[in-house]
Amino acid sequence: MVHTSELIEAAKQARDRAYAPYSGFRMGAAVLTAEGTVMPGSLVENVSLGLAMCAERVALFACVAAGERPTVLVLVSPRTDGAVTHPCGACLQVALELGGPTMEVVAATTDGEVVRLPLGELLPRGPRKTR
Ligand SMILES: [Zn+2]
Repeated sequence: MVHTSELIEAAKQARDRAYAPYSGFRMGAAVLTAEGTVMPGSLVENVSLGLAMCAERVALFACVAAGERPTVLVLVSPRTDGAVTHPCGACLQVALELGGPTMEVVAATTDGEVVRLPLGELLPRGPRKTR
């Protein structure tokens, strides 16, 4: 059993590896898979700014590449305008596709606040296929 604190630590380490020379807004993620694997993800920016990829989607896509499925998504990030930073809409949509609305989403700030919500509360009406 992997504890949330271990996932947050993995996301912090991934945040340390973020490639964010343009924004300086370092973000790291970690996904716990159904198989018990902890999959890290780091923000990756590019001089062609539109090519940046969020840490959460890096981790979610790595799950698919490893043949696994996500059950918990953790993001460690600075605050945005003083508020806890939750995954963006694109990342929530990808998470909904792979993990469904009951998937737990944990948003942790670099100053230690932690918010846990089911994905379905963050993206209640996102389109999804029925399985
Ligand atoms: Zn995102």
